[in-house]
Amino acid sequence: MSYDYDLFVIGGGSGGVRCARIAAGHGARVGIAEELHWGGTCVNVGCVPKKLMVQAAEYGAWADDAHGFGWSTKRGTHDWQAFIASKDHEIARLNSAYVRILDGAGVVSHKARASFINAHTLQVGEQRLTAANIVIATGGLPVRPQIEGAELGIVSDDAFSLEQRPDRITLVGSGYIGIEFAGIFAGLGSEVDLLYRQDLPLAGFDHEIRQHLARALQRNGIRLHTSIKLHKVEQVGACKRLSLSDGRHFDSDLVFFALGRVPHTAQLALAAAGVATNERGGIVVDAENRSSVPHIYAIGDVSNRLNLTPVAIAEGHHLADRLFGPPPPRSWSFAAVPTAVFSSPPIGTVGLSEHEAARHGTVDIYTTEFTAMRHKLTGRDRPSFLKLVVDQASQRILGAHMIGEDAPEMTQGLGIAMTAGATKQDFDRTIGIHPTAAEEWVTLRQRTRVAGEERKAAE
Ligand code: FAD
Repeated sequence: MSYDYDLFVIGGGSGGVRCARIAAGHGARVGIAEELHWGGTCVNVGCVPKKLMVQAAEYGAWADDAHGFGWSTKRGTHDWQAFIASKDHEIARLNSAYVRILDGAGVVSHKARASFINAHTLQVGEQRLTAANIVIATGGLPVRPQIEGAELGIVSDDAFSLEQRPDRITLVGSGYIGIEFAGIFAGLGSEVDLLYRQDLPLAGFDHEIRQHLARALQRNGIRLHTSIKLHKVEQVGACKRLSLSDGRHFDSDLVFFALGRVPHTAQLALAAAGVATNERGGIVVDAENRSSVPHIYAIGDVSNRLNLTPVAIAEGHHLADRLFGPPPPRSWSFAAVPTAVFSSPPIGTVGLSEHEAARHGTVDIYTTEFTAMRHKLTGRDRPSFLKLVVDQASQRILGAHMIGEDAPEMTQGLGIAMTAGATKQDFDRTIGIHPTAAEEWVTLRQRTRVAGEERKAAE
């Protein structure tokens, strides 16, 4: 049977655009559908505008810091509308770059929603199209809690186009998105109450990093409220009131739910094609991104595994190479994926936390806490902390975690070292760059403790 396309991609975000472009470059006839904005979450309502907002928030404190270096700069006020206009200008530029990339590669773009009619046929806007292979790259959506008045609050998609900055904000959720927005609004001058279920923010990250983060948030004036259970949101006069089950309530100009994301599959009619999903709604895929239907694939957040832009891009690129390129396809390692949280100060992390590593073996832990050189002069109370988790038997680095100035920039290099299988001795014989904070990674001489021995003793 002949099809309209060799490959059709549903979703023009990070993963979908890369997959379509590379497949077309290999000579395949490729179509792609995007229902909202080209570039998807990352470019429009994710990584890129978020990082610009983090940078906007940091400038105020930098203006204060400059005093320590002899500048008489005054912090002044922040113009929210002017900043949003600059941010929107940059996002529009990126949007059109995505469209140009697809056109240039010969991909046929459809600005429309796509859904399955059957395993080879899609409804794309008003058209019916057929494809030999189909890639689902529809990403995820932010969740709202199932409580009365939840519609009175916003989610991250709404946070990038607020007409004005709220003076008081109640932020619910301490995953990386909640943490980053707490820092953004506090840095720009809002009063922030941050509410979360556990006793420390950023569940899933290294425990000591979480402790340091909690202290950093408080130093930035963010009020932390733990062990919360949501009850309802209501409009009380000019403000929104968020009530908890234990009777506590918070009045503010804006309630912001940062409670995680779910795979975006509801409108795809997956059942018409027989594509299976798991209990969390993610499309079930094998190691090669193949779904339960052999010619239908899923990449990026819609399979709900490592929900990061570079992972979606790598999956999309690898799949296109495998389907249409000359062998061997370019390969990626997902064993030690470096990532960052753009908190204030930021976090960089790669590999296993101390706790995770100690569950599987005996590990040497190296830590250090220090003040970045510039804060000796600024006087800002902003310590840096870093940790290396080392497998005791092989001396391989299993995890590297840092909170402090420039942590994300350092973590990319640490990811390379770990992907190459670096040991503690490789770190020790590397010459540092002086004077930097990064040299701390290669001057960790004294082991702080051994972890995982209790597990060994119990065995
Ligand atoms: P997406 O980029 O979400 O693209 C999916 C696209 O599919 C969307 O454009 C959507 O409109 C479209 N679509 C959905 N259904 C259909 C349909 N039926 N028909 C047609 N089109 C459809 N990751 C990082 O690595 N670093 C960060 O700093 C970072 N920060 C983030 C901050 C925020 C606030 C958020 C929300 C996410 C952030 N992420 C970050 C995660 C990152 O954005 C995602 O991992 C990445 O965008 C996933 O790419 P994707 O291609 O899977 O999906």
